[in-house]
Amino acid sequence: AEMSKTRTWVEGKWYEGNPPLIGPRTHSFWLGSNVFDGARGFEGVMPDLDLHCARLNRSAVNLGMKPTMRFEEMVELATEGMKKFEADEAVYIRPMYWAENDGPGIIDGDPESTRFCMCLFEAPMPPKGASNSLTLSPFRRPTMESMPVNAKAGCLYPNNARASREAKSRGFDNAIMLDALGNVAELTSANIFMVKDGEVLTPYWNGTFLNGITRQRIIKLLSSAGYNVHETTLTYKDFYEADEIFSTGNYGKVVPVHKLDDRTMDHGPVAAKARELYWEFAHAKVPA
Ligand code: PMP
Repeated sequence: AEMSKTRTWVEGKWYEGNPPLIGPRTHSFWLGSNVFDGARGFEGVMPDLDLHCARLNRSAVNLGMKPTMRFEEMVELATEGMKKFEADEAVYIRPMYWAENDGPGIIDGDPESTRFCMCLFEAPMPPKGASNSLTLSPFRRPTMESMPVNAKAGCLYPNNARASREAKSRGFDNAIMLDALGNVAELTSANIFMVKDGEVLTPYWNGTFLNGITRQRIIKLLSSAGYNVHETTLTYKDFYEADEIFSTGNYGKVVPVHKLDDRTMDHGPVAAKARELYWEFAHAKVPA
């Protein structure tokens, strides 16, 4: 696919497009030693940008990399980068670290060689009426003991990518991934919520999926609006019997589900309310 309008900051300078940054000896090229985060700039706001930047530094530490930027500096850079886009362009903001050199143990990267870049690119928001179809994935999320799932790391995504490919090959937009015990964890690139008899339910964070910043924001917003939100153990059957399902993530924010395998369902009122609350929150908050 052709690349959308892209601006990249690396080592003190802005570049247009996608500058080449690594070589065949780069540790990250070899063993996937990179971490990233994803935030959004749209309609003149960058909701929770500070939280996304702070999470990047935690991801780096979790993967044995030494952060070289303070989150405040990243927020400043993103603010500067957003000025390179038109006011009506929706942008994906992706700060990243990677290990440049091998460390003393060879397979571990050298923490002193951590490098940083931030990439911003045009990525339209899914339209307001958009919704997804879901299927149960045959692929599961790893446990905390088998992968560093508490980092937002590139090395975690090939498993989610094969789940996404497999779902798409069967005509679905996205897949529900279970954890090692067989309970629902998340989608391939978003968290998942359901509604049953007016109560909002979402998987309890047991360390097998990304505890999304949008997930945490929506839990707070719905709770403050008077909904009962439960973080609990949920099975595929719970979702199959749900009144409503929706996903949350920085990319599309709140997106309802219209189909789960052979069951169709309506876009429900809670998903619509969650989306509305998110937009109110996003616009009430002045970006840093
Ligand atoms: N799970 C996965 C695997 C993701 O890639 C994402 C997107 N970052 C999410 C959940 C949602 O997280 P957030 O709300 O922090 O974007």
